[in-house]
Amino acid sequence: MKLMRHLAIALLFITSGQLLADGHEIDYQALVENAHAKFKDVQDGNNADYIPILAEVDPELFGVVITLADGTTYMAGDTDHSFSIQSVSKPFTMALVMNEQGPQAIVDKIGVEPTGMPFNSIVAIEVNEQRSRNPLVNAGAIASVSMLQADSPEDRFQQIIDGFSAFAGEPLAVINEVYVSEAETNYRNRAIADQLLSYGRLYADPSETVDVYTRQCSIGVNGRQLAMMGATLANDGVNPKTGQRVLNENYVDEVLAVMLMAGFYDEVGIWAFKAGLPAKTGVGGGIVAVVPDRMSIVAFSPRLNEAGNSVRALMAIEHISNELGLSLFR
Ligand code: GLU
Repeated sequence: MKLMRHLAIALLFITSGQLLADGHEIDYQALVENAHAKFKDVQDGNNADYIPILAEVDPELFGVVITLADGTTYMAGDTDHSFSIQSVSKPFTMALVMNEQGPQAIVDKIGVEPTGMPFNSIVAIEVNEQRSRNPLVNAGAIASVSMLQADSPEDRFQQIIDGFSAFAGEPLAVINEVYVSEAETNYRNRAIADQLLSYGRLYADPSETVDVYTRQCSIGVNGRQLAMMGATLANDGVNPKTGQRVLNENYVDEVLAVMLMAGFYDEVGIWAFKAGLPAKTGVGGGIVAVVPDRMSIVAFSPRLNEAGNSVRALMAIEHISNELGLSLFR
């Protein structure tokens, strides 16, 4: 019976993209509002504080957004608040590198295996012969930044912010206080860059690369902008708002595969188990999940669990995934 119901939902989704099994249209606005209402009082977790300014962000902020692959957007809560993109930036830089050098360059020069260790692990670099391991941990993300072909650090960063703005369909900017706060305290990332260089796995000057990476992590997005970035992935690499092709259509599945395997810090297994969607989280409290050909789901709230994932954001996205039966494995 359950199987029949799931099959019916899947069929109706495929044929119409809009209907539930009982024939009703999906009310996306109600979905984001319900997810927001259901989890807004959850108080678990703490703001990240190893980047000092993130500790000062209002922990009560909470926004939920769905953007369909055609660009239609549904929002609830604090969706206009600009927060630092942090690690949610990493798959988008990976995408820019792939546009330039193709997917095999990522495999050869970084790797695509999960580490099973924290995102900024030094040990992971020592014990794995690939060193950087994948583009979504700090080592691999710093290596991605270093792979972009650039004439200068300014040019390298300009490529990143122009690329991210194309994903968002509007101009994005760095949140300067976040950049300054992180640049003053990012000793660990500097160590990671030097460590990679010593193994021949960094492809530009380490100090410049870490500085550009830090600026990349400090780019501000609100929920609506991040959801449009995700919807560009859901829409085969074409921004639904501008119609611009931002990512080669043959590379979208590789980006999503790495997100599924490594996008949720060391909780990626339980996330795949419960929500079944490629996603990327960041210590700023943002999470973007992508349902290929259908939609992106974004949530943002600053309090993080032990693994570094936003408590409310992960609950909201998991809830929506389950309500609509969106797991890729159904
Ligand atoms: N800029 C942060 C760092 O390098 C990003 C971490 C994250 O969001 O996971 O530590």
